Amino acid sequence: MKQKLRWLDENCNCCGRQINSWDKRISKTLAYRYACCEHCIAKEYDIDVEAFRHRMENYFGMRPCLGL
Ligand SMILES: [Zn+2]
Repeated sequence: MKQKLRWLDENCNCCGRQINSWDKRISKTLAYRYACCEHCIAKEYDIDVEAFRHRMENYFGMRPCLGL
């Protein structure tokens, strides 16, 4: 399953960096009221981004877009 990475016209509610479709998707999955980037979400879980992606893949069967 390939998903195209899109940069959105939205910013992370936490750090203000521009978010992409992957960030948006994980924010939704984790029921964030406001979209946050994966860096901030990973930080909240106290793990690094790589571990976070791995976890999302295991728990939700979600894969980050290629090239991210
Ligand atoms: Zn952020």
